[in-house]
Amino acid sequence: MNRRDFLKLASLGTAGLLLSGCGLQSRREAFEEQQLGSRAEHGDVQYRPIPHTGVQVSTIGIGCGSLHESSPEGIAQVFDYAADRGINLVDTVMADFSTAVPIGQALKGKRQKFITQMHIGATYPNNVYTRTRDFAKVREGFETQLRMFQTDYSDIGLIHYVDQGEDYDNMVNNGLLDYAQKLKQDGVIRHIGFSSHSVEMSHRFLDTGLIDVFMFSLNPAYDFVSSGGGMRLDESRRKLYERAQQLGAAITVMKAYGGGRLLSEASSPFGQAMTPVQCIQYCLDRPAVVSIIPGVRNLMDVKTSLLYYSASPEERQYSQILQANAKDMDGVCIYCGHCQPCVKSIDIAAVNKFYDLAQSGDALAADHYRRLSAKAGDCIQCGQCEPRCPFHVAIRERMKQTQAYFGE
Ligand code: SF4
Ligand code: SF4
Repeated sequence: MNRRDFLKLASLGTAGLLLSGCGLQSRREAFEEQQLGSRAEHGDVQYRPIPHTGVQVSTIGIGCGSLHESSPEGIAQVFDYAADRGINLVDTVMADFSTAVPIGQALKGKRQKFITQMHIGATYPNNVYTRTRDFAKVREGFETQLRMFQTDYSDIGLIHYVDQGEDYDNMVNNGLLDYAQKLKQDGVIRHIGFSSHSVEMSHRFLDTGLIDVFMFSLNPAYDFVSSGGGMRLDESRRKLYERAQQLGAAITVMKAYGGGRLLSEASSPFGQAMTPVQCIQYCLDRPAVVSIIPGVRNLMDVKTSLLYYSASPEERQYSQILQANAKDMDGVCIYCGHCQPCVKSIDIAAVNKFYDLAQSGDALAADHYRRLSAKAGDCIQCGQCEPRCPFHVAIRERMKQTQAYFGE
């Protein structure tokens, strides 16, 4: 990247996210402080309603997943700034639960200013994030979250991370769905939802008629598939967003930057870098989406996402990604799933996605990978999937690399 490109990205907040992955923390902070100046302070924060609830959420929220990279003082700064600026949606799932105490302290006295989105089925033995379906642990984990955050309710309670049919059945059979409904009856949560990366599981949840809101991984890399040498929105994902809108189930977005991949020309499947502003605009343009929740590490990350509110229409324009042709994407997995079925029942797109996310620094990706019923280590190198990949991804080689990376 040349200096001119770097300055352009910095003006939209991308440079810091890129440099942080290079370990250039102090240079990053100094440069960003200087370049971004007060631009993040400008532009009115926008809000969208969660249908059927009367709740209005800021179209950009705060994801706590990586807040352990900040000191307690840094965490207080994040929440003070968010409260002053009018950012009100906070997703509390996190990699390291030691962050919960300073978050609880930061929320003290301003609890009413925030809409919390807490996860039912996330638990933290020894402060380390773990997903559980054991009912006793689910309840203990949720009650612990409330206690640590110094509150007796969560505005939104999400049944945490259901991506597979067997897990959905376990979740129902182990009483998690009943528990969520009881929490709502008792006023401990006010609105029910779930988090997922799966279109199919999202439909199953929506079929229950219970869902007010759900957190879904959404960005152009996950949404687009090749078509006639160009790109088009995947039909099944488009239909999910439209159905959610018809039902009045709101979507809050995770992975809006594709784990950072979309922000770099080298790793973007579209062959060109997007800015955080463009990624946010893309997500906000999808039906049913009410808020984008980037994971933040510190105040600078919050300010980076808030540049969206002062961005010009030209800076928000992302239509150039539609002009990407299949050649740009050769060898790059966009998680479209066209390579399925695998003879060993490996979800190839999911394996590739968690591998890419883990390499991008996503602290939760390794756990999510371990939960897959078939992993890269199950690959028998038959090669049957590769001719079905429109982007000529070397799937067998990727399976070897992924197995080596995760150890299974
Ligand atoms: S390997 Fe190819 S076909 Fe399979 S999910 Fe990735 S891009 Fe799609
Ligand atoms: S090469 Fe591996 S991933 Fe592809 S179909 Fe065969 S077993 Fe599945």
